[in-house]
Amino acid sequence: MTIRVYNSHTRKKEDFKPISDKKVRMFVCGPTVYDLSHLGHARTYIAYDVIARWLRYRGFNLFYLMNITDIDDKIIKRAREKNEDPLKLARRFEESFFQDIASLQIDTIDVYARASEHMPEIIDQIERLIEKGFAYITQTGVYFDVSKFEDYGKLSHQDPEELKRHRIEPDPSKRNKQDFSLWKMRKEGEPYWNSPWGEGRPGWHIEDTAIAEKYLGQQYDIHGGGIDLIFPHHEAEIAQMESISGKKPMVRYWLHTGFLKVEGKKMAKSLGNFITIQDALKRYDVEALRLFFSSTHYRSPIDFHEKKIEQAKTALEALYETINSIRRSVKSMGDLTEDEKALERMIEESRRRFGEAMDNDFNTPLALSCLFDLAKYVNRLFDTQKSINKRLADYLINTFRELGGIIGILQKEEVKEELPEELRLLIEERERARERKDWKTADEIRKKLEELGIILEDTSQGVKWKKKI
Ligand code: AMP
Repeated sequence: MTIRVYNSHTRKKEDFKPISDKKVRMFVCGPTVYDLSHLGHARTYIAYDVIARWLRYRGFNLFYLMNITDIDDKIIKRAREKNEDPLKLARRFEESFFQDIASLQIDTIDVYARASEHMPEIIDQIERLIEKGFAYITQTGVYFDVSKFEDYGKLSHQDPEELKRHRIEPDPSKRNKQDFSLWKMRKEGEPYWNSPWGEGRPGWHIEDTAIAEKYLGQQYDIHGGGIDLIFPHHEAEIAQMESISGKKPMVRYWLHTGFLKVEGKKMAKSLGNFITIQDALKRYDVEALRLFFSSTHYRSPIDFHEKKIEQAKTALEALYETINSIRRSVKSMGDLTEDEKALERMIEESRRRFGEAMDNDFNTPLALSCLFDLAKYVNRLFDTQKSINKRLADYLINTFRELGGIIGILQKEEVKEELPEELRLLIEERERARERKDWKTADEIRKKLEELGIILEDTSQGVKWKKKI
C-alpha cells in the first residue's frame, strides 16, 4: 500500500514518503478571524480533516498544526469599523471558529497557534533574514528582497518577469515592486509590538513560517490551504523559510483545495455570497454537509446548490436505512448461505476498493461510491433473503461505520426511524386506553399494529416499537 498525493509544486501525483518514516507533520493555514466562517472555509477544513483521518487510518503518526491569523489588516479594518479592540475582536471570532470546527465534527487538529502569541519567534525569523541579507529595513517596515531568492515563483510556476506585474503593498521605499513585508512599522490606532526595528506588527507570511518552524521544524511533510493561497502566501513562506535554513524543500507535499463557488464565483465574505457555517448547520445535518463536500474531490471546485445538499441528505438516509434493515434482519449464528458467502466477498472487495480510492490522492467521491455500491448489493439481497447471519451483519455494519468514519458519516449510534403518522396516533390511542385500564381496546390496537408489521414492547421507560421481520 502506497499513498499517492498530488503535489501542487511538481504538479504531479507522487508516492507519499514522509521525512521520518511513519511520522507525518502537517501544517494547514487557519482562518483570519475577523468575521464568522462560511461554507467555503468548511469545504477546506473538512477536506483536510478527511485527509488527516485517512493518514492516521493508514498507520501514520500524524501531527496536525493550524495557525490562527489574529493580527492582520482585515482584522484592524473591521475593528475600526466596530470601534472595538482588534485583538478582542479576533478572540470573539476565533471562539466562533472553534465552535464551527466542533459542530462540523472536525477532530484531527492537534495544536492551534495564534500569531499574536509567537512574537519572539516571528522577530527571530526576521532577524535571521536581515542577518543573511535577504531582508532590509525601511521607514515603513522590513521587507523580503525577492531578487535575493532565486527560487521565488517556483510554487506558483511564475517567472521573475511575470512576478513583477504583481503589485504587492505599493511602497516607494521598497527595492523591488514584488518585495513583501515581514514587519510593518506602527501606524496610529493599530496594535503593535516592540522589535529591534521599532514598534509595529508582523506581515502575514512570516506569522506562519515562525509558527511552523517552532512546532514542525525547518522541513516538514505537508502544507495545505485553499488554492488562493499558492500565491503570494505560500510562495512567500517558501522564500522566507528556505532562505533562513538553506534547506530545500521546506515542504515535501503542497496540497491545495478547490473553491466552493456560487454561480461560478468563489464563496467569499467580500462578495457577500456566503452562508455562514452556523446558519448552514441550522438547516442541514452535519453528516449531510460532510457527505456533500466529500462527493467532490478535494482539488476540484464545487458549485454550491441547496439541491445538492438535499441530495446528499437523501443519500445518507438511504445508507442509514440499509444499516437499519441489516439490524432488523439479524438471525443467530450458523453457516453462511451461498448468498451470504458472496456478500462477505463483496464486503472485502468494497473495503479494498475504498482503500485504493483513498490512497489515490484521497479520492473521496470514488471511495463513497464503494459504500453506495455495497448498500445497493445488500438491499438487493434483502429482496430475496429475509434474515442475515449475525457475524456477517456485524461485519457489514462495522464496515459502514468504520469507512464512513473517514468521511465523517454513519456515526450515529441508533437512528430513530420515523413512524407514519397514522401508526403513531394508534400507539398514542393505545397508551390512553392503558391509562384508563381499558385492556381490551389496548390489546385490539396491539394486534392491529402487529398486522401492520409493528411490534410493541411495554418497558419501564414506556412503550417501544420495532418493525416485524
Ligand atoms: P481566510 O480566513 O480567508 O484566510 O481563509 C481560510 C482558509 O479557507 C484558506 O485556506 C482559504 O483558502 C479557505 N477558503 C476561503 N474561502 C474558500 C472557498 N470559497 N472555498 C474553499 N476554501 C476557501
